[in-house]
Amino acid sequence: MNTHEIINEIDINEILEESKNFSKEEILEIIEKSKDCYGIEILEAAKLLQVEDDEILEKMFEAARYIKEKIYGSRIVVFAPLYTSNECTNNCLYCGFRVTNKDLHRKTLSTNEVINEARTIASQGHKRVLLVCGEDRKTTNIDHIVESVKSIYENADIRRINVNAAPMSVEEFKKLKEAKIGTYQIFQETYHRETYKKMHVSGSKADYDYRLTAIDRAYEAGIDDVGIGVLLGLYDYKFDVIATLIHSDYLDEKYNVGPHTISIPRLRPAFGSGLDKVPYPLSDKDLKKVVAVYRMAVPYTGIILSTRESKELRDELINLGVSQMSAGSKTNPGGYEEDDKQADQFVTSDERGLDEMLKVICEQGHLPSFCTACYRAKRTGEAFMELAKHSHIHEFCQPNSILTFKENLVNNASEETKKIGEKMLQVELEKIDDEKLKEETKRRLKRIEQGEKDLYF
Ligand code: SAM
Ligand code: SF4
Repeated sequence: MNTHEIINEIDINEILEESKNFSKEEILEIIEKSKDCYGIEILEAAKLLQVEDDEILEKMFEAARYIKEKIYGSRIVVFAPLYTSNECTNNCLYCGFRVTNKDLHRKTLSTNEVINEARTIASQGHKRVLLVCGEDRKTTNIDHIVESVKSIYENADIRRINVNAAPMSVEEFKKLKEAKIGTYQIFQETYHRETYKKMHVSGSKADYDYRLTAIDRAYEAGIDDVGIGVLLGLYDYKFDVIATLIHSDYLDEKYNVGPHTISIPRLRPAFGSGLDKVPYPLSDKDLKKVVAVYRMAVPYTGIILSTRESKELRDELINLGVSQMSAGSKTNPGGYEEDDKQADQFVTSDERGLDEMLKVICEQGHLPSFCTACYRAKRTGEAFMELAKHSHIHEFCQPNSILTFKENLVNNASEETKKIGEKMLQVELEKIDDEKLKEETKRRLKRIEQGEKDLYF
């Protein structure tokens, strides 16, 4: 495979050059067009990225909010990362886990420790985890990942496990699929080859092409639910956002299904990092623009926000098109049991726990969701996109969000969160148009109050 055909830097630079010529009218037209929820062209997205005018930016944010609401309603899916290991043989300059960080407390969790972490996360009310680990063929190989996934499903009340791990061969991806993971997530970090080379000094991750083609191998192995993203701050964000959209289009055209999610990690300080400053800093305003542009360009793709961002900014970003967010995260293996700052991957910013986060999400007018139904009912990949593009996904998501949030309110929430949460549920229940479905949802809510769990459509 010629990877320059997937990501062609000359083309991207030409698009970015051309995008500098725009008029206010043209931008307003693109914003209007985006509200049809069919997405926008790459060049149009590039023009939006050039906007600096606060008044126009506000219009972009409004459009992103509108699209998010139209497609996802007020739902925000909540999850927690679970780090199984910080051992790594790569040398990514920005990461605390890099091999040359000799002061890091290294640890790979045993199967029992993985189970304990998962149980602690589940005890807060989480149902989804994102399993994360460094890359070390001896300790964090496919057997470690598969064993961790299986043992969590078997021993903790976690209903969906997504995985963020190093690129694999088709054979390894097949094993991952057999373990019944949700989304396989991998960030290219930067699509700019020269910067990629500078940032990835040694180890297998230095191979840009093997990483870029990971999703192709995952699809080949039958995984149809994938997540992509770049580490914002490594290179010019405009270049990397456009490249991410081009990668997404490429996957959509070739496999009939684009990425399920795009993540928006922004570079954070890390203990033992090899970078003394952010190479291409982007402001909060830039990050808000990036979220809005993704939402407008690929309206059916989930946007994932982590606790790398401050609580103030996170509260703003959930109003701009983000559809999934982590809460109460720890970035060291075993962190939910015992926090060790000298074992962290990077410093998190929003330290609020899950219960507080749920309250804030409700206060902002959103409905937290712990739903894991689609992937368990095999509504993934093309089947999911078909439903989503015809807005049928609402029919499942709305009642499922209500039911899963109710389960949290009954079993895990504080009195304060319960109070605001119950009010939220009443509002959201009324949004179900189909009367029969609404009645059935009410019946199931009663069953949850009486102690039943895991009810979904
Ligand atoms: N080791 C695997 C890999 O690199 O693909 C998977 C896990 S890695 C721990 C997950 C992601 O964390 C990386 O893809 C990178 O984007 C992000 N990351 C690493 N260092 C970071 C930092 N200092 N700030 C923010 N995100 C960081
Ligand atoms: Fe290892 Fe991933 Fe960190 Fe790179 S980003 S050092 S591969 S854990």
